[in-house]
Amino acid sequence: GGLGIGQEVLHHSQIHLSKLIDEDPEIELVHFNTTLGLMHRSLDVMMKSSELGDGEHLEILETYRMFAEDRGWITKITEHIHGGLTAEASVKKVYDDTWVRMSQITDPYLKERLHDMRDITDRLLQHLVGETRSSTTEQPDNIIVIARSMGPAELLDYDRHKVQGLILEEGTPTMHVAIIARALNIPVIAQIKDITEKIDSLDNIIVDGESGNIFIRPSEELLGSFSTKLKEREQRQAEYEAIKDKPSVTKDGIKIGLHLNAGLLHDLPLLKETSADGIGLYRTEIPFMSYPEMPDVNIQSNLYKKIIDEAENKPVIFRTLDIGADKMLPYCKDLVEDNPAIGWRSIRITLDRKGVLRSQFRALIRAAQGRELYIMFPMISEVAEFDAAKETLLIELQREKDRNGIIPKKLHVGTMLEVPALAFQLPALLKRVDFISVGSNDLMQFLFASDRGNQRLAMRYDELSPSFLRLLKNIALECSNAGVSCSLCGEMAGNPLKAMALIGLGFRNLSIRGHNFGQIKMMLQSLDVKELELYLDTQLDSIEHSLRPRLHSFAIDHGIVI
Ligand code: PEP
Ligand code: MG
Repeated sequence: GGLGIGQEVLHHSQIHLSKLIDEDPEIELVHFNTTLGLMHRSLDVMMKSSELGDGEHLEILETYRMFAEDRGWITKITEHIHGGLTAEASVKKVYDDTWVRMSQITDPYLKERLHDMRDITDRLLQHLVGETRSSTTEQPDNIIVIARSMGPAELLDYDRHKVQGLILEEGTPTMHVAIIARALNIPVIAQIKDITEKIDSLDNIIVDGESGNIFIRPSEELLGSFSTKLKEREQRQAEYEAIKDKPSVTKDGIKIGLHLNAGLLHDLPLLKETSADGIGLYRTEIPFMSYPEMPDVNIQSNLYKKIIDEAENKPVIFRTLDIGADKMLPYCKDLVEDNPAIGWRSIRITLDRKGVLRSQFRALIRAAQGRELYIMFPMISEVAEFDAAKETLLIELQREKDRNGIIPKKLHVGTMLEVPALAFQLPALLKRVDFISVGSNDLMQFLFASDRGNQRLAMRYDELSPSFLRLLKNIALECSNAGVSCSLCGEMAGNPLKAMALIGLGFRNLSIRGHNFGQIKMMLQSLDVKELELYLDTQLDSIEHSLRPRLHSFAIDHGIVI
């Protein structure tokens, strides 16, 4: 996400080695060991960097440091030094040998380890030959870093205040450098083939992380319009800041619960910054993606405890593992399917592999330490699946009681509603759940049989189509009649026009991304719900492709800030 304008800086990780052979292995060994110590200290300093806060990125750096302490790696380097190579030539040789062995591997997890290893090797080589990375003091004030690939520590070498964007030739959304960049609010665009050859040093570049576009050597006009966009963003941010602590109430006095969608520890400060009512969706699969292997109960429970602590008394809805389709874990390799979006994913996996589900419940129960606990299941397609998942949860609860553990003060159990079939079992479902959260991203893709990740279909169907809105209205109405809290946590809730429609359909709780709070709050403060409800009632029988143009006009005519 985000927008960055700056001058291109090509990231160099090649270090020139002038001396390869040395006669005195003892001196080289001392040089190597001292330098390794130096490097560890510099990684420690980096880990303590206050700007990074406390999050998964620290865990990545920690993994990183453990890698640098790896005995096998150190032993191989030492052997080459004994064989007559200089310390730096030995480090390079061990990396080159590994690269030759591993370069054919297509497994994304191992490929990322290779990147990490290159990052550590480069860092060590710099220390050994006494070279520092191109000093950032000589660089322009605003830079866009371009690299073939990059390790997380390499990004941290740059002056945070100068880096406005990052473009990579390789990369995946879950690669570590992307997690660090997200934590630092730097827009990243990856998988841009041959970009390092297409640009000249200090070219002006615009990185538009929202649309995934890069503009190289933009015209003065384009640069001007993006600079204006950037200034407008800053201005809007200031306006949102000003209403941050105002209640999220519509013009006609209806309270709308605004909750946060989160997945990284880094998202948690946003709870205070946005004055959100709580976390409406915590995607537990996101932290799972940043671990090198399936996290055990202790690791999970520490993480969940940190989240509940940091949320203070605000509710946090933990959604159990929703993996599969576009969310793959690097250490789960047997999930390749022809139709992954409608395949063996999410609760279907965890109901078949109960150990995973039980360990997650165990960790959550322990993390709550006597406080209230909110658990939500993803991709439930029928009431029987909800019952099966809840039964497993109750087994874990009983287990905790039997071992005299502290159980949560109150347990709230709910489900995502994102598979259309479940909407036809609402009467039975609503007797069983404490809350419902509509996952409009998946509900839309299943209702229209339209893959949410397919670029060709991205603009084809609209969430503001009368059929989708009618389905949503029925869900909101049935929940309200049954007295069950109903929220919507898909991306549509973060768009002012769509959020306006949702409120008109009866939704009183929305869960959105942190950076959408300002505009949603501003919209609802200018909204008269009663007027909108009356208008929407006259529109849902329409057979038009979308109600978007009409809703847009309604908003403009009624002074609603969208
Ligand atoms: C959804 O499907 O709308 C949702 C919120 O879940 P996810 O985007 O994680 O699938
Ligand atoms: Mg979903």
